Amino acid sequence: MAELRRDGIANERVLSAMERVPRHAFVPEEQKARAYANEPLSIGYGQTISQPIVVAAMTEAAAPGPKDKCLEIGTGSGYQAAVLAELCQKVYSIEYLEPLAQAAEQSLRRAGYDERRLVLRTGDGYGGWPESAPFDVVLVTAAPESVPRPLLDQLAPGGRLVIPVGPRQGAQELELWVRSSAPDGGFTRTPLMAVRFVPFLGEGEPHRR
Ligand code: SAH
Repeated sequence: MAELRRDGIANERVLSAMERVPRHAFVPEEQKARAYANEPLSIGYGQTISQPIVVAAMTEAAAPGPKDKCLEIGTGSGYQAAVLAELCQKVYSIEYLEPLAQAAEQSLRRAGYDERRLVLRTGDGYGGWPESAPFDVVLVTAAPESVPRPLLDQLAPGGRLVIPVGPRQGAQELELWVRSSAPDGGFTRTPLMAVRFVPFLGEGEPHRR
């Protein structure tokens, strides 16, 4: 955690949540030795867990509060979902690829995150999770070329969306979108940092539109 602190992560709740979640419990057997290196790790099917500094920066930007409801798009290994579950009231997470969704469910339940704290769904996260909206936090861990409208629509007043946006081969930027708490709820968009995420699959893919 000293490393994350040095890299500018200041939120103590986020730092201690990351200290509590065992990253090794979410990586495949052959990667366990490298679970605590500050690098992205392969989880199979061409997908990766982000490096700890990126998970920390996204979580800090999303600022999940103890009473908040959070939606994650891209469960992947389940690691980021576990970090969110440490910080908010309930996490909803959607994974597109069935085998990853199954592995993540196993890891998360084994690590003690039950259905009261964390619910999972397999499918395209492009449309969000309308039955459980609105969300105080929406966190997206794969990069679409532009922000899916349904995810903005499902933000609660004052809600935060953290999302990498950009072309699959080019420069992507991590963006923070905040919905105003005024009744007519406009959005402000703040670019945070340059990032490299795996592309968003499903409806958000350019050739599907
Ligand atoms: N948050 C993950 C990071 C996983 S990488 C973790 O902590 O491990 C991004 C994940 O997003 C991949 O598993 C990929 O399959 C998934 N993904 C990509 N497009 C998606 C979509 N449209 N809906 C849901 N999941 C998607």
